[in-house]
Amino acid sequence: LFITLEGTEGCGKSTQAKLLGEHLRNQGYDTVETREPGGTPLAEKIRSVLLDRADEPVAPETEAFLVLAARRQHVAQVIEPALARGSIVLCDRFIDSTLAYQGYARGLDIATLERLNRLATHTLMPDLTLVFDLPVSTGLARRRSAAELNRLDRESLRFHRRVRAGFLDLAKRHPRRIQIVSARASRETVARAVARIVTPLLDR
Ligand code: C5P
Repeated sequence: LFITLEGTEGCGKSTQAKLLGEHLRNQGYDTVETREPGGTPLAEKIRSVLLDRADEPVAPETEAFLVLAARRQHVAQVIEPALARGSIVLCDRFIDSTLAYQGYARGLDIATLERLNRLATHTLMPDLTLVFDLPVSTGLARRRSAAELNRLDRESLRFHRRVRAGFLDLAKRHPRRIQIVSARASRETVARAVARIVTPLLDR
């Protein structure tokens, strides 16, 4: 079972990945939590390049190639082997982040990015994608201090609103795979909503 967690900055998906991982392990499921961009030593290096706050402008295509290079490595080294062992894989960000950030928000062609995603994943698709949705300003306010903000957090509110709208549009386009979870409630309430969605998929 392959589950991805998506959403805008500060939506709580990393916290929910951890809580869902604990919940599944407590029920005896071998569960691997991982994240993108990153998840392998090489891919984590690409992540730091991507998030670096250097002054050099980064072209949207450069950003896309970086996240896609990291994804190929991550899928081949971590996700596919874990799924082959029968583990449940929880991945914090995956293909939909590329479409939302580099596509909807940066303006790269969605169909092209979908093809590149397939190149990076060898067509592996999540069984379920949870989009944690909340107003962009709420999410950004959850980031504690400006020192924590990476290059992308410092983008304009308009940029982050395009990302959010992108995730919502993707959910409309893929209603069977993508479920929207309201991320405004307490972490416990959100975790219960997540468990309600995931439980029916177990032991299939
Ligand atoms: O979710 P997390 O904070 O780990 O994401 C790291 C950063 O990478 C975020 O700021 C996100 O905006 C950025 N990112 C991106 N394009 C992607 C995936 C992540 O700009 N395709």
